[in-house]
Amino acid sequence: MISEQFDVFLFDLDGVVYIGDEPLSGAVESLARLREKKKIIRFLTNDPCTTRSKIVNRLNRMNIEAHEEEVITSGWATAQYLKSTNLKMAFVLGNNDLKWELRQAGIEITNGSSCDAVVVGWDNTVTFYDIQRAAKYIAQGAVFAATNADKTFPAPEGPLPAVGAIVEAIRVSTGKRPVIVGKPFPSMFHEAIKNLDPSSRIVMIGDNPMTDILGAHQAGLQAVLVGESNTYPAKNDFRNADANIRDLLGLFDPDIQIKKWVRPNYPWPESIKPGVAGIVFDEYGRVLLMKRADNGLWGIPSGHVEPAETVEQAIIREIREETGLEVQVKRLIGVYSDPVSQIFSYPNGEIAHFITNCFECQVIGGSLNKNHWETLDIQFFDIHQLPENLLPMHPKWLADALEQQTSSYIR
Ligand SMILES: [Mg+2]
Repeated sequence: MISEQFDVFLFDLDGVVYIGDEPLSGAVESLARLREKKKIIRFLTNDPCTTRSKIVNRLNRMNIEAHEEEVITSGWATAQYLKSTNLKMAFVLGNNDLKWELRQAGIEITNGSSCDAVVVGWDNTVTFYDIQRAAKYIAQGAVFAATNADKTFPAPEGPLPAVGAIVEAIRVSTGKRPVIVGKPFPSMFHEAIKNLDPSSRIVMIGDNPMTDILGAHQAGLQAVLVGESNTYPAKNDFRNADANIRDLLGLFDPDIQIKKWVRPNYPWPESIKPGVAGIVFDEYGRVLLMKRADNGLWGIPSGHVEPAETVEQAIIREIREETGLEVQVKRLIGVYSDPVSQIFSYPNGEIAHFITNCFECQVIGGSLNKNHWETLDIQFFDIHQLPENLLPMHPKWLADALEQQTSSYIR
């Protein structure tokens, strides 16, 4: 049973332990049984409109034992983040509980014209003017932080916009990505486990695949989904839980087993993008490689498909822009989406999974431009003497191209 397999239990609150002021079925008994077994318990909530002591009181009123040091709220974790990065003055779109947590961490709340962080939490009274001010401070260099990015929250009349709606308003108008502290991002998980014995067996129990399960898996932890099972098609999808239980009593069900989570060797992408790559041979059968300025690795020319472009037009344009050569497309070599080599992290924090259409191309004009800003060097290589520091997926693409190569100049 799950309760015997772990030493540390991280619980989401809303929808797992309680809804509103009512404990959920089995929650009080299950948490008491874990305490009896001397298990370590943490409570993690994205709710930014509360404090750790208010959560303790709320749990205690439901006859659930809880201590302040066991509670990680997104507001408290945001205050710890600002403190740890030495940010001292914040413009806050959030309620008094968030401001209180920030002040406890030594952060000054400012309404004036300068600040070193903009903190977005829950604020029912936020105005368009507030959003404009926040955007202005971020444009002036303030760090953009958000307690969480939940898109909606459940209300009796149906889902209503949550903190994520304000975060998006500021993100689209500044072009800046926020530091998001709440689940599924790592800060709260790190706060929850930072003082534990490294050999502890830790499990996250949550009801939201997009925050609780994804977040735990990104942090390398196992995760149990409470409530209706929700299966994503890919076996390695980070949002698929390792076990599913109906309520917390399921932790003590001898028939429920937990699968082992082995964190794949790539970060979880937020989007899938169409890409193109071109293998260009010269008249001697040598292949064109460019040394990329961003990572110093050699690779074949590659890039994005722009709106209203065919993939053939995209690779012809990319090769012209990156190398100065005019090419024509000879044939499609393959379409590649292996996540290990095709998921990229950008310096701004964006992570994308590329589906790359790889073509063999033939030079029909132009001349090699070695001075493009994206390249440190560019040259044709004998296919038996390729540089060692190649982008990881390119040897496979080159091998596929050579295997299909019918021209007589390749041997
Ligand atoms: Mg929840």
